[in-house]
Amino acid sequence: MTPHTRVFVAGGNTLYGHALTTLLRTEGFQSLVGVGTTEPDLTDAAATDAFFAQERPECVFLCAGRSGGIGLNRAAPVELMRDNLLTTLNVLASAHRHGTAKLLYLASSCAYPKHAAQPLKVESLGTGPMEPTSEAYSTAKFAGWKLCDAYRREYGCRFVTGFPANAFGPHDDFTPEGGHVIPALLRRAHDAKSRGDAELVVWGTGAPRREFVYSRDLARACLFVARNYEGEAPINLGGGTDLGIADVAHAVAEVVGFKGPLVFDTTKPDGAPLKALDSAPLLDMGWRPESDFRAALNETYHWFLHHRATEGRTHARRAV
Ligand code: GDP
Repeated sequence: MTPHTRVFVAGGNTLYGHALTTLLRTEGFQSLVGVGTTEPDLTDAAATDAFFAQERPECVFLCAGRSGGIGLNRAAPVELMRDNLLTTLNVLASAHRHGTAKLLYLASSCAYPKHAAQPLKVESLGTGPMEPTSEAYSTAKFAGWKLCDAYRREYGCRFVTGFPANAFGPHDDFTPEGGHVIPALLRRAHDAKSRGDAELVVWGTGAPRREFVYSRDLARACLFVARNYEGEAPINLGGGTDLGIADVAHAVAEVVGFKGPLVFDTTKPDGAPLKALDSAPLLDMGWRPESDFRAALNETYHWFLHHRATEGRTHARRAV
């Protein structure tokens, strides 16, 4: 890849997409295509193909497709699955048809079996049933990986699949209903503090563990993989911080300055008990995360304060 490589971040309005676009600009990439409002509707096959025919991106990061936290996965499985299947089908078909040289598809750690050995190795993919709360979305992500693999085998396309850890950062979905645990709790703790609430409600038992990666680090990992990885096997994009949900909630309360006790609402689901990735293949290639969890949480909260804190509590859903 050179500064003049035509790069398309598909799903540029998503958490990953924003982080990638920012990183690519910082790294001096001058030919980003489909940025902002020029991105076509990727659920529309004709619009996607017309865009690829005109722009002929040489490198594609496929971050498109709606996603959300455990709440959205339970409330809107059809929309999540349809959106991910359609965007993936359309982007891969057009990338193949119009000669994209390299594509990195961002799958999801939800696609691992619920009870796979930890930390999750890519060899475990497909060896058991997935977590039921996110099964529709995860099945679409799993299918996306398999479709990349099929393009690689049948047509020799350089389509690589990455499985990211739970990412967080600026431009995330901070709604309590749709967001993942970190943005949803940042919002809830902020509102609780502003209203002077006595306690902060945390979903589930607080016992599950997740590996969290800052979106800036995830973007760095994606660019590193696009430049350096050509393997047939998918690659985990982790190397982040493994934390229990109760510890995350305490860290959020501290960053926000909410002083009251936490209350665990066990009528809400826990989801998968554990989700940490084995990122040895990525780390063995020399990549390292740079962000400190607490500093990243602080940065994310400050982004929220400047951009979202005054918005209505039910602002628009995010795409990833
Ligand atoms: P998951 O990795 O797909 O389960 O994604 P989430 O980020 O939605 O949830 C991770 C864990 O955080 C689950 O055990 C949730 O029950 C827990 N959790 C605690 N409070 C919240 C919250 O306010 N929102 C969400 N989404 N999850 C929460």
